[in-house]
Amino acid sequence: MGTPVNLGKIFGVNVRIDISLFLVAAIFLLNGLQFGGLQGMLTEATFVVLLFFCVYLHEMGHAFGASLFRIRTLDVTLTFFGGYARLAGVPRGSLQEIVVAFAGPGANLLIAGVLYLWLQNPSTMFVGDGFMIWRLMVANLILGVFNLLPGYPLDGGTIARSVLTNFMPRPRARLIVGYGGGVVGFGLVAYALQTRDFSLTMLLGFYLIYLASLEIQAARSSRF
Ligand SMILES: [Zn+2]
Repeated sequence: MGTPVNLGKIFGVNVRIDISLFLVAAIFLLNGLQFGGLQGMLTEATFVVLLFFCVYLHEMGHAFGASLFRIRTLDVTLTFFGGYARLAGVPRGSLQEIVVAFAGPGANLLIAGVLYLWLQNPSTMFVGDGFMIWRLMVANLILGVFNLLPGYPLDGGTIARSVLTNFMPRPRARLIVGYGGGVVGFGLVAYALQTRDFSLTMLLGFYLIYLASLEIQAARSSRF
């Protein structure tokens, strides 16, 4: 989708934004405009900025996990479907791989926990009616749990593959996790059909199926 725009270094890691991100922002803004006029648009704009900040923190979680093993992060890119962190090295062995993969969703679960505590005690800081905080908490919970599902290319897929390679040849583990990703993708498409959500969830489902099918092909060809 073209070259991402470089925003410069934050905490020593280059942050880049893919142009496709503006499409997500536009979907949120139009939704806000449709249901709440200008005020609604402003609320959605705030939410989408905070949401992508949480996606950024997810990627920085991976960067932090990698730094524990002295692996540098080249950059973090935010895209239409979330983000990715490019590491300067490869984690060695199962344990390192699992720690680096878990640190991303772990960051989201941590944020969800902090927001939950904040909602329990709103008098400590101004939170309005708390709805925005609640939405962000739910979004982080979903980001954390969804990314831990055991299918390629999710973080949970990386963790599952790492565990499985202790019991079977790597191509076989890749194949299983590839099929896992396909199941998650079909699940998303089914959910989108059920809820008549034909925008982001549906697209994400098809994209996951596509990526999982590439992984299944690669695993099959490396087997023989
Ligand atoms: Zn991740």
